Amino acid sequence: DRSGTGAEPDAAQQVLRRVFGYDSFRGLQHEIVTQVIEGGDALVLMPTGGGKSLCYQIPALVRSGVGVVISPLIALMQDQVDALNALGVRAGFLNSTQFPDERRTMEQQFVVGELDVLYLAPERLRLESTLQLLDKATVSVFAIDEAHCVSQWGHDFRPDYLALSVLHERWPDVPRIALTATATEATRREIAERLDLTGARHFVAGFDRPNIQYRIEPKNRADQQLLSFISSEHAGDAGIVYCLSRNSVEKTAEFLTRNGIEAVPYHAGLDARTRAANQSRFLREDGLVVVATIAFGMGIDKPDVRFVAHLDLPKSVEGYYQETGRAGRDGQPSTAWMVYGLNDVVQQRKMIDSSEGDAAHRRQLQLHLDAMLALCETVQCRRTQLLAYFGQSGEPCGNCDTCLTPPESWDGTVAAQKVLSTVLRLKRERGQSFGAGHIVDILVGKSNPKVLQHKHNELKVFGVGAELRDVEWRGAVRQLLAQGLLAVHGDYGVLVLTEASEEVLFKGRQVALRREPERVKPAKAPRAK
Ligand code: ADP
Ligand code: ZN
Repeated sequence: DRSGTGAEPDAAQQVLRRVFGYDSFRGLQHEIVTQVIEGGDALVLMPTGGGKSLCYQIPALVRSGVGVVISPLIALMQDQVDALNALGVRAGFLNSTQFPDERRTMEQQFVVGELDVLYLAPERLRLESTLQLLDKATVSVFAIDEAHCVSQWGHDFRPDYLALSVLHERWPDVPRIALTATATEATRREIAERLDLTGARHFVAGFDRPNIQYRIEPKNRADQQLLSFISSEHAGDAGIVYCLSRNSVEKTAEFLTRNGIEAVPYHAGLDARTRAANQSRFLREDGLVVVATIAFGMGIDKPDVRFVAHLDLPKSVEGYYQETGRAGRDGQPSTAWMVYGLNDVVQQRKMIDSSEGDAAHRRQLQLHLDAMLALCETVQCRRTQLLAYFGQSGEPCGNCDTCLTPPESWDGTVAAQKVLSTVLRLKRERGQSFGAGHIVDILVGKSNPKVLQHKHNELKVFGVGAELRDVEWRGAVRQLLAQGLLAVHGDYGVLVLTEASEEVLFKGRQVALRREPERVKPAKAPRAK
């Protein structure tokens, strides 16, 4: 056993102390660096914040030659290089944002071995000139960061990654280490195959983040729910709020600030200076909230983020895990809180329908969404379900919403039949399809202008759903969508039946639904400072 503590200080440990100033390796780090230093290949699955960088930086420093790091995160290269330079490590990068003369200088340093670490954008490996450049230098290790990008059906596919198999073909003696924070077992196999890493040792770190409490609630009025969550549980804490659109980022940041919670926006549409300023305020100040699109957070290392809130549904469980993982890196109790509703499902479905790529690609996006929806609608422990997604097992945690307040389920068969038969009737009798809101209006018997205009008050199903409130109906429709008993189609998000709907309508299939919690009361706004 060579896992860190107590072992003879070897070269790796000396570098850890002398260069990085750390006393001991964390988790699997020591085993991983030993494997690579000895010339073996490694596939590393470690959650964000787990300490992946050291796994290739230390071998790069211990072995002779230059460590070449393939990374798609071009925007972070400068920061990574600066951080290494500050430690006295000679580092540089090559990517498309450089001026030609900067690039030439870097290439020169690389070839003569005046570098310890070189960051390289994957697309550069498509150029024969880059391959020739690598021939001229001595490479100590190839590190392939964000290795899941090679997975064609993953959530972050980069075509340039497919070309990385050239590394092994051309330099079979240089050890390679592929690293990712997000990979199911299937993706891991795919990475190993595509990158020609079938002989690599796999290092899989535990994904559980016990100090994070997971909670997912139905969305009613997202901004009020958020305000109430922050002011009652996280007043004065640093946190990240994720929204899907730039517009809602701006609005939410303003809303929080107006209500006495200091918040700054962050999205790709802001000019670079504002973005950098907001990011550095977030890192520096205590208790600032950043409202952001998912553009924010890559490489952010702030240990005391006390909560991560999602106002919109992430596209995949991988994304959710990665974003929520930015909470509580210091190990202190933190919250991953999310609201999600019917419109999230409709909106994501629309995005999938209109996405580029072929049917198989859309099918993959749908599978990612389905897994995310299953996590939202589960009646079991969220953590168990999340870990199971990453191929790891665990007991119910006692620290997520479903463990703390087990959701009640009820027999929703009749309710489901009402929804589905309304959709069916409109289609059969009128040749029409409508969105969820209108279907619910018909069920609860609302004679609004749209209903009257279409004479839907004359339908047999008009008003047959008086036993539930319309939030409950919307919750039921959301759950039917999540369970695949109903689908949405096209630009207007109209509801359509699926094969499974027929089973409910005609074959006596039972439907269990989660009871919707009581509507969350809007919080009283704290007095502004
Ligand atoms: P990842 O790339 O897996 O998200 P990083 O490599 O950025 O994680 O590391 C996350 C943080 O943990 C960094 O601040 C890093 O300096 C710190 N860290 C990594 N390894 C150790 C260690 N052995 N001891 C102390 N801090 C560490
Ligand atoms: Zn739990």
